[in-house]
Amino acid sequence: MIRKQKKPLSRLYFLVIFSFFVPLAGFFVYATRNPAAYFFLVVALLADIFLLAAFHGRLQKKQSQIAILKEEYFEKANLLKAELQHEWETIASLRLKIINYSQLKDLTEKLSLCLSLEDTSNTLSVEVSRLFGHKDVTVILYLFHSATGELGISSSQKGQMQVNLKAKKGDIFDHFVVKTMHPLLVEDVQTDFRFDLSKMDAEDNRQIRSLISTPLIVGEKTLGILRVDSALAHQFSTDDLRFLRTISDLTSIAIENAQLYEHLETMAIKDGLTGLFLRRYMMERLGEEVSREMRLGEELSFLMIDLDYFKQYNDSFGHMAGDIVLKTISQILEEHFNHPGELVCRYGGEEFCVLLPGCSKTKAVQMADEYRKKIEKREVILRRQKTHVTVSVGVASFPKDAPGGDELIFKADEALYRAKETGRNKVCAA
Ligand code: GH3
Ligand code: MG
Ligand code: MG
Repeated sequence: MIRKQKKPLSRLYFLVIFSFFVPLAGFFVYATRNPAAYFFLVVALLADIFLLAAFHGRLQKKQSQIAILKEEYFEKANLLKAELQHEWETIASLRLKIINYSQLKDLTEKLSLCLSLEDTSNTLSVEVSRLFGHKDVTVILYLFHSATGELGISSSQKGQMQVNLKAKKGDIFDHFVVKTMHPLLVEDVQTDFRFDLSKMDAEDNRQIRSLISTPLIVGEKTLGILRVDSALAHQFSTDDLRFLRTISDLTSIAIENAQLYEHLETMAIKDGLTGLFLRRYMMERLGEEVSREMRLGEELSFLMIDLDYFKQYNDSFGHMAGDIVLKTISQILEEHFNHPGELVCRYGGEEFCVLLPGCSKTKAVQMADEYRKKIEKREVILRRQKTHVTVSVGVASFPKDAPGGDELIFKADEALYRAKETGRNKVCAA
């Protein structure tokens, strides 16, 4: 704002008074010596007063005109200054936008190179942390688990480092975003009336004073939340939140693609009904394990499992009931053979197999029999009717029974055939 300056009384005023009164003073001195001149002195004084009054009037008028002009000038100058300020701000925000857009371009290019979900999440956290790098922030990407639907941390980054956070399923702020499905800006958690800090997880002892958070949405589907928080208050503005929203809009598709890719990968190696690995994947692993055991000089055992009279079961209770049994059998199989390295797979139809690296044949027979007994005891209730199934198992070991993977399967299959031939619901070893 330009200020008006006060000016001293016009010098002209002084000049006029001076030019009138100096001769008048001279005339007065002359009149004291010559009394006849008093009349002329009075006339001259009156004329002076009249002239001065007229001059004063004109000067006042001129001064007020000048004052109005000055007012207008100050007004215009202030308007121009405000306009200039606005232009500078526009230029600065455009400059920032250009920088942001080029950073976003980099981010999308990097994300387009990621295939797996892990890679995509990590790249996103690292890049967002870099974009907000001028502030000391933590970036957290939460995703909904495809099977359980629960919110969970997919990646978290603080500066150059990946961090391990305790609030794995999100805190009150994340639950707020999930509930409202709207972006959230909290300038200071201690003064924001929307949140009850006493409900904060005591385990998560991280200092949080301000944050921005936005949901990741593709079409109608919500994939998770992207959040940036800081230990200091007032670290984020609405512009920051807008920027985070743009990031989340651009990256949601990349996350969905990575999730689809992972789902496809799982579908390629896992059976849709039972969730067990497929035969093709098992064959790959068997080849690797045979080479490994050969190198280490260890044993590798293989179980071939087949349900007894399953066709009959299907005929009696229906195919759907048969599917429930297959799922139950698979679940018990996974629970029973759950040591590291052990691999359970659906070989095909109602046949399953188990790979037991580093396991002796005797131990494998023992484990197989324990499993057989579990199945024998298990009741499958169908339409309030208790049903039972049994399994037969063939066991073979590398290198005792077979010199390679294919032969190992063949030997286990032969042993299974014997178990069937000799009464079923039993375990036979090669
Ligand atoms: P065995 O004791 O000799 O093995 O008799 P079985 O009836 O089990 O033998 P078979 O191999 O002749 O029959 C297998 C049956 O498994 C045939 C088929 O209907 C059933 N089956 C295979 N895959 C599935 C499946 O995905 N779901 C259901 N419900 N049944 C299946
Ligand atoms: Mg069969
Ligand atoms: Mg069968």
